[in-house]
Amino acid sequence: KVAVVLFTRDLRVHDNPALSAAARAAEHVVPLFVHDPALPAGRNRRWFLDESLTDLKESLRRLGADLVELRGDPVHEAVRVAKAVGAEGLGLARDVSSLARDRERRLEQACADERIALRTFPGVTIVPPDAVRPGGGDHYKVFTPYWRAWQSRKPRDVEGAPRRLRLPKVLPRSWFRDRKVHPDAAGGETAARNRLTGWLRHLEVYDQFHDDLAADRTSRLSPYLHFGCLSPRELAARVEGRAGAEPFIRQLCWRDFYHQVLLAFPGLRREKYRAGAADTWRDEAGAFQAWQEGHTGIPIVDAGMRQLRSEGWMHNRARLITASYLTKHLRADWRLGGDHFFDLLLDGDVANNYGNWQWVAGTGNDTRPYRRFNPVRQAERFDPQGDYVRRYVPELADLEGGAVHTPWKLPEARRRRLRYPAPLAMP
Ligand code: FAD
Repeated sequence: KVAVVLFTRDLRVHDNPALSAAARAAEHVVPLFVHDPALPAGRNRRWFLDESLTDLKESLRRLGADLVELRGDPVHEAVRVAKAVGAEGLGLARDVSSLARDRERRLEQACADERIALRTFPGVTIVPPDAVRPGGGDHYKVFTPYWRAWQSRKPRDVEGAPRRLRLPKVLPRSWFRDRKVHPDAAGGETAARNRLTGWLRHLEVYDQFHDDLAADRTSRLSPYLHFGCLSPRELAARVEGRAGAEPFIRQLCWRDFYHQVLLAFPGLRREKYRAGAADTWRDEAGAFQAWQEGHTGIPIVDAGMRQLRSEGWMHNRARLITASYLTKHLRADWRLGGDHFFDLLLDGDVANNYGNWQWVAGTGNDTRPYRRFNPVRQAERFDPQGDYVRRYVPELADLEGGAVHTPWKLPEARRRRLRYPAPLAMP
C-alpha cells in the first residue's frame, strides 16, 4: 500500500497527524510539497519557507524517506503523483483560508474521479476551528466565551515522529530538489524545537514581561506556528502545568480564535467583519508611505515599523500601537496597513493578521470599537526607559530615558539637529 502526504502549513515530522496516519496505514509513504505560484507570500516568508523545507527534507531522510518537491497547482500535482505511484490514499492538514478551502474542495473532486481516498486531518490549530461552536451560531464572535469553551476541548494527546518511513521503490529523480543545509538556519522544525526549549525558562515571567517592548521576552515562535514547523498542540502540551503557562496558552487560543473567525467569515481580508462599522478613511498617500518607512515623527510607531522592515517581525505591543496610529490617527484604511504587514511578516497569515487589524481598526469583533491608543502613553508604559525606540531609531539614540518618546518637546535648535521629522499627527 502507498499513501501520499501533501504538506502545506504543517512542515514538521513531530505531531503531524497526516504523516503519522499515513505511516500507520501504508507500507510506502510519499511526502510531497507543491510550490504554488498562486500563494501570496512576500520575500521574508519565501525565505523562511525555503529553510523550513530544507529542514523537513533532512528530517524525512533521517526517517528513511525524502521530500518530493514539485511546482504548479497542488491539486493537479498531488493527484498526478498519487496516480504515478499507485497510491490508494492522499492525506493533508485541513486549513481555513479561502485558498486552502478551495484547494481541499478541488482535491475532493479530483480524488473522487481517480478513486483515491482523500483524508484530511487537524494539526494547524490546537482545537479544530469547527469543533467549538456557540449555541445557535457557527462561530464565536467574542474571545472570552470562546476561551472558556476552548479550554474544555483542548486535546491532550500528542504524537511523536513516525519511527520509520519507506518511499516506494523507484521515483523519478526530477521529483527531488537538492537542498543545502545551513547550520544556523532560522526556519524549520529543528530551529523551532531549539527555540522552544531555550525559551521555556522565560515562561514563568511571561505574564510580567510579554508587553515589555525592550525586554523582548515573548517566544517569537509565531513564524514556526505559521508554517507548522511546530505543532501548536504539542506546544500547548509542553507548557501545560508549568508556572506561568495560562497567560501564554491564552495567546495561543487567540490564534485558534481568529482561525475559527476566518473559517466562518472568509472575506476577513477585505470586508469589514461588522458591516455596520464606521469607516471614514482618508486617503493621504504621503502619510501612509511615511508610516510604512518609519518616518511618522512618533518614535514608538517608527521603532515598530522599522523593526518590521529589518526583522520581518514586530512585537505584539508595537503591532497594536502602529496599527492603531495608522487607522485612528492617520485615518488610513486598515486594509492598506494589513497588506503591508502581510507582505513583510514572517508569521503573516490571513486569520491572525487581518483579524487583529480589524480588531484594532474597530471594524472587527472587538467589543470596544472606538478604542484608540495614545502612542505616547503606550510608549511610556511599555518602553519606559526608551530602549526599544533607541534600538530601532538611531537618529534618537542620544536622547536619554523616556525623553526619547517626545522629541517635539525639545528646544527647537536641538530638535533640528536630530534630523527626525515632526509628528504627522499629534498623539
Ligand atoms: P507570544 O507572545 O510568544 O505568543 C505565542 C503565540 O500566540 C504567538 O506565536 C501566536 O501564534 C499566538 N498569538 C499571540 N498573540 C496573538 C494575537 N493577538 N492574535 C493571534 N495569535 C496570537 N500573529 C501572527 O501569527 N500572524 C500575523 O500575521 C499577525 N498579525 C498581527 C497584526 C496586528 C495588527 C496585531 C496587533 C497582531 C498580529 N499578530 C499576528 C498577533 C501577534 O502580534 C503575534 O502573534 C505575536 O507578536 C508573535 O510573537 P510571539 O510568537 O513572540 O508571541
